[in-house]
Amino acid sequence: MSLARPDGQDAILAIATAPGKGGVGVVRFSFPAATAFEQFCLAFCQKIPQARLATLLTLRDAQGHAIDSGLVLSFPAPASFTGEHVLEFQGHGGPAVLRAVVEHALALASSLGLALRMANPGEFTQRAFLNDKLDLAQAEAVADLIDAGSVSAAKAAAASLTGVFSDRVHTLADRITHLRLLLEATLDFPEEEIEFLEKADAKGQLRDILAVWTELLQGAQEGVKFREGVQVVLVGEPNVGKSSVLNALAGEEVAIVSPVAGTTRDRIKQELSVRGVPLVLVDTAGLRDTDDVVERIGIERTLQSVHEADLLLWLLPATDYPSRPAQLPLQWPEHLPRLLVWNKADLASAPAEPLAADEVWVSAKTGQGLDALKDMLLRQVGVQHTPEHGFMARERHVQALKRCGEHLGMAQAYAAQDDRILDLFAEELRLAHDALGEITGRLLPDDLLGLIFSRFCIGK
Ligand code: GDP
Repeated sequence: MSLARPDGQDAILAIATAPGKGGVGVVRFSFPAATAFEQFCLAFCQKIPQARLATLLTLRDAQGHAIDSGLVLSFPAPASFTGEHVLEFQGHGGPAVLRAVVEHALALASSLGLALRMANPGEFTQRAFLNDKLDLAQAEAVADLIDAGSVSAAKAAAASLTGVFSDRVHTLADRITHLRLLLEATLDFPEEEIEFLEKADAKGQLRDILAVWTELLQGAQEGVKFREGVQVVLVGEPNVGKSSVLNALAGEEVAIVSPVAGTTRDRIKQELSVRGVPLVLVDTAGLRDTDDVVERIGIERTLQSVHEADLLLWLLPATDYPSRPAQLPLQWPEHLPRLLVWNKADLASAPAEPLAADEVWVSAKTGQGLDALKDMLLRQVGVQHTPEHGFMARERHVQALKRCGEHLGMAQAYAAQDDRILDLFAEELRLAHDALGEITGRLLPDDLLGLIFSRFCIGK
């Protein structure tokens, strides 16, 4: 998909409301050219509607038969969502009537010789991006807001849409730009290099930039978790209470709980939210040597989910505390954070010593320690805020931020050298700045942009 500037492009239309029946159905138009917009309005509304004022309208076909009646709203450029001339018809929300409105509009445009066509997925937002109404991170947040599966996730997406994330990216970019300007000026007067940089505290500035970067990366990594959820795997011997702990966290019965060892034969995925953060909990098959084929399959799947996880919850019987196996009963990636959950606390006496930082004392039966478990769980996967106090981000943003950080690190290494290599220092800052440009879409190839917008829904 080519992303040329929209000037001279077709006008587009789409049914903006969800398919199906509803109280109201919206057909939205966006016209790049004012003359075509006015011509169309005259034919469609019998007059040019007053800007941003709702006007009641009965749409009629060529024979004068009513198609629908509703409100028209006009948003002349540039004060519109797309930055083009936008018209909205808010009619009745039925698939057939909306289809009739669309067909009527297309026929009218065709009779006037105007290029009007159905919009591609995300094309309205894409035009908003190309007309600098939104940057790319905000445009992505439009889709994330629509896709949000919980109120908390929606709030995080709305924060990104309104620029909370983008503003922080711009702040970081501005600071890098400031230092770059300083460097470029110095490079032009090499004899003053050292003194000038020291006076301006270039190293100190870079330290501050890295501090801002670290916080932003942390926020973006959290933002990805708010969007995609945290993958947690429960492991432990049969009968230790994995299903019960999962149920207690979920607040409802999801896995088969049975006193017979080996009952949980397959892994069971359960989506729940902990403090507003989506969590995908995978209950595992009882891990033990077995000849049972079905149980063996369950164990294989467990091993697979361990490799996809963000966190391992290793359940142990509180009655055995503090003795535990020297290692997990399966191979697990060394880098994965883990929590040791001593379950069935109601059957054991509380430990005399405080537990280690990655251990928690719970009872799935009485609910004891479950709040602490939730807190520790989120802390272990690096979530420090609730979605309401953060913003939503995508893995693409995290990767770009990491690239930015690598270049900042290189810049710092050059700056630390006695005979400073100023041009290399400056080049690393430029690359760090460019990496940020990928987040806002300032520097992203057209095909990647096209791919991002093609995943949007129609009419958005
Ligand atoms: P799994 O095989 O690890 O999934 O274990 P289950 O969740 O099926 O639990 C095995 C048995 O232990 C069941 O009878 C549960 O009711 C019981 N159980 C689980 N958690 C607790 C707990 O915290 N306290 C007590 N007293 N019993 C528990």
